[in-house]
Amino acid sequence: MSFQSHYSHSYGDEWVRSHGEWRRMADVGGEVLSLNETKDEPARIIRTNNAAGSDKQNVPQTCIYIRGRAKQRQISTCLSDALNIFEIKQSASDIRRSNYVCEILRILLKEHICKLSGTAQRIIFQTVETLVSTALSSEMNLLVIKNLLDEISQSIIASSGTGLIGSPGVWKRHLQMVTNLATKVSAHKYTENNGTLRLLDLPKECLYNIISRLTDHRDIIWLGSANSYLYELTHDPFIWEKLCYYHFTEKQMMKYINVVDDESLHWLSLYRKCSRKFGLKREYADMLVMCVSCHALHWKLQGHNRVSDEDSVVEKIEPMDFVRLFHL
Ligand SMILES: [Zn+2]
Repeated sequence: MSFQSHYSHSYGDEWVRSHGEWRRMADVGGEVLSLNETKDEPARIIRTNNAAGSDKQNVPQTCIYIRGRAKQRQISTCLSDALNIFEIKQSASDIRRSNYVCEILRILLKEHICKLSGTAQRIIFQTVETLVSTALSSEMNLLVIKNLLDEISQSIIASSGTGLIGSPGVWKRHLQMVTNLATKVSAHKYTENNGTLRLLDLPKECLYNIISRLTDHRDIIWLGSANSYLYELTHDPFIWEKLCYYHFTEKQMMKYINVVDDESLHWLSLYRKCSRKFGLKREYADMLVMCVSCHALHWKLQGHNRVSDEDSVVEKIEPMDFVRLFHL
């Protein structure tokens, strides 16, 4: 016998056979759940259904709600839980998130190394390993990773004996691991080009276009140090003018010059002065953001599954802002 609702396209009610008659699951649910009759068929079905329902509720958490405003902002989880919820270790192998993760690790290990719990340390050093293996396999960001490893080593050495959480033996192993990884990165030999098109094979206009889209001055400087042709291209004033306007406001630039559109203006020199004074604007392909409606902290590209907030504005959470949420 089939049971259908009035609407043929609807799934209808769920029914169970109880004490010789068919009854709606919703009607018998309460009474059956209170019984301990494990042999009772409705009870078994309902328990199974409830177990399935609880599985649905166990969907991995992907966001954490932020309380408070401005500097008083905080989240209710500890650092290690947050690192797990935001899948920091897995994110290290995602090219869109790796730079953001790298910066979080740099801040944690440089400024808060003495506050890291054993669990947080385990996640962080596993993440460092993932960052290195991803950089080695993709041959991208190797210099950035090498600098990160050097900074971590220096931080561990400088903090030893000053209240690090965990035994000296554990930190000795962390240091050894970081040193080994740094050696591995330094010894890496880039894959030989097998006759495919290389950067220098591109026309000058294309090269210039690529260089003018780089937002990190270190990439431009390193590229320019390859040969005299690239040096000339990377020292074009227009490239540094674009970089200045990208990273700094006119008001910031006016601190060092009288007239911004002065033709004799040395943009590279202005860039150096402004970057020392104001720091640089960082862009990440994916990063943690906060929904301004419900204050859920989540990965920008992943969203936070709240239908009513689909078009909601999000606020960028810089790596330093993320670390500050824990008031370490
Ligand atoms: Zn929201």
